[in-house]
Amino acid sequence: MAKAFRGGIRFSETLRAAKETALHVPLCVFTPHIIHLPLQEGRTNFSPTVIDGVHVRVGDVVATDPTGNTPPIHSGLSGTARVEKNSRLTPDGKPCTVISVIGDGLKTAAIPLPPLSNTADPSSIVQRMYDGGLVGLGGAGFPTFRKYKDKTAHHLLINACECEPYLACDGRLVIEQTDTVREGINYLMHAGSVPESGVRLCAESDAVTEGLHRIADGTRWKVVRLPERYPQGSEKQLIRAVLGLELPQGVYPADWGILVSNIGTAAAMADAANGLPLTHRAVTVSGVVAKPRNLFVPIGTPFRELAAQTEPLITGRQSQLIAGGAMTGRRLVCADAGLPKTCGGVLVLPIESEEESPCIRCGACVRVCPSGLMPYLIDQAWLQQEDGLCADLKATSCISCGCCSRVCPARRQLAARITHIRRKGG
Ligand code: SF4
Ligand code: SF4
Repeated sequence: MAKAFRGGIRFSETLRAAKETALHVPLCVFTPHIIHLPLQEGRTNFSPTVIDGVHVRVGDVVATDPTGNTPPIHSGLSGTARVEKNSRLTPDGKPCTVISVIGDGLKTAAIPLPPLSNTADPSSIVQRMYDGGLVGLGGAGFPTFRKYKDKTAHHLLINACECEPYLACDGRLVIEQTDTVREGINYLMHAGSVPESGVRLCAESDAVTEGLHRIADGTRWKVVRLPERYPQGSEKQLIRAVLGLELPQGVYPADWGILVSNIGTAAAMADAANGLPLTHRAVTVSGVVAKPRNLFVPIGTPFRELAAQTEPLITGRQSQLIAGGAMTGRRLVCADAGLPKTCGGVLVLPIESEEESPCIRCGACVRVCPSGLMPYLIDQAWLQQEDGLCADLKATSCISCGCCSRVCPARRQLAARITHIRRKGG
């Protein structure tokens, strides 16, 4: 039986019911008329490989990272490419070069990469991860080829926990794409030289656990049913719950012989092995809506079009669009921006007051912090501009789960601040 990790929260019946509802909605293909692909992702600046006005096909490379640290970006539509510098069609509204593809409705596909054989060696699989544009689809977006390159691991954890409220698209992949996911896990296992007995498939709902048992059928992979507790899907929490190991701060699990990949990454791995680069992804579109949907869409599909598929029950100034989950997602500044590779959720939620009041020292933020931090003290140190104290309080161990802000009766913006401190290095 899996162990629990410290802290975390259990969501209300209402939120758990919303996820359960979404889990019963089959994946459905949706094709927009246009996609937008920003050429800046985090610290990576991509260079376009197409010029304005050229025709591209589904699967064509449209941009690459000159440093080679991040895999290429492929088009998910066939049509005319537009390259616009200083475009604000980005989730945070900050300007960068954006490649838009105006669809021709034909879905003309590029010539696929040659399929990998079942006996491909680890370096060929890792190369395919790069060529196929794979990044971790669970949210972090770490390039998959870098995680698996030259690794000999003893465990591979396949994460189908999807612990954020509302989101269920990974669960649908497990339920609907059994063979694809199994094939992808096989490639990931070989890429990391993981023994078959070291593979763990993890979920926290009955329906997804049943699906994982079907995937594991006939193998020595073990299925682990975890308690429903947020943030179960976070790498270190998952490792602690499944393997009982507490990794020291600053350690990458892969360097300790533990590889963790999201179930969506496994499915994308199978497609890449069969010659199809990452051009589409599954996404749940939900929130205060009449029809929550699980959609399979080209990467770069405008958020606004995704939200429109759900018949939102709140609109205008009452509502906000969130990219990602309710806990870790970000409010969209530009609703016409395109869905990034890493985004598995789009939520229509009411706007909540962000007015803070002074901390009342109730200790709730400390009790829920899965990283064992003292969020209220870090918050106080930040307000007093005591950077050294923030470092002493281990602000860099924050995993940005949002639990502290969620439970704070004073509505302190703890998670946002501590995440900011972590990003600038403590
Ligand atoms: S301090 Fe960070 S890790 Fe701890 S609860 Fe807040 S957001 Fe989560
Ligand atoms: S939960 Fe909010 S009010 Fe309570 S100790 Fe933490 S910061 Fe202060």
